[in-house]
Amino acid sequence: MSDNLKGIISDIHRTSVVDGPGIRTAVFLQGCPLRCIWCHNPETQQMKIGQFGSRVVELSEVVAECKKDLAYYNVSGGGVTISGGEPLMQPLFTLKFLQELKKAGIHTALDTSGYASRTIVEKTLLFTDLYLFDYKVTDPLSHSELTKRPLKGILDNLEFLLKNKASVILRCPLVPGVNDQEEHLQAIAGMGNKYPSLVQVDILPWHSMGNVKYIKLGRKVDSHLPRGNVSKQMIDHYRAFFIEHGCSKVVVRDR
Ligand code: SF4
Repeated sequence: MSDNLKGIISDIHRTSVVDGPGIRTAVFLQGCPLRCIWCHNPETQQMKIGQFGSRVVELSEVVAECKKDLAYYNVSGGGVTISGGEPLMQPLFTLKFLQELKKAGIHTALDTSGYASRTIVEKTLLFTDLYLFDYKVTDPLSHSELTKRPLKGILDNLEFLLKNKASVILRCPLVPGVNDQEEHLQAIAGMGNKYPSLVQVDILPWHSMGNVKYIKLGRKVDSHLPRGNVSKQMIDHYRAFFIEHGCSKVVVRDR
């Protein structure tokens, strides 16, 4: 292993059950090129050390930490999820990390915005068992406004992964009044038909738990965001919409 290879992480969550199948260790890498107005993890956006526990780590140290829960992964069908931020902002670290996990026989998931160069995305294919790939906004103009990055390259990367037989779960954050317009819901519903090889489409209703982090960072919560969490009625509405549209692959999560 490249023992001295270093990366910047913001956190490690052991025994997570919300970051992919089974029981997982989720490793959150620092740095993200997007600026989604609803981001729950604004502390991960900048490549800063010392904020909210962000720190430099050696790859060997993180891999050793992940190996501690091998028994849990094995009984639950779990593994390790590399998340962020955007893990592909630290491409060398992420690629080596994936490689080392595979060497240890651990299931790997990469949680990504999809905003990365094709060369890097292609290199992940060999060592990634599952992609948790964001699909946030359908209208290209709104996508640029709400995330500060264009949509096209992201969709191209998604198509590239699917053409190359990658396992992909699409993850769609829905924020009432921001990106839950009928057009976007229709487009999400259409993804299952357009890409039959998608493993699943997860709908992630917005919650306000990240707001406190903005305050701690001295930043303002975007004024377009709802005051509180998505209501149960709204979650039921999303569920009904996707059932009506016959979307067997769509799973609407509770907040
Ligand atoms: S891609 Fe994820 S981490 Fe990056 S700004 Fe958007 S929500 Fe936050």
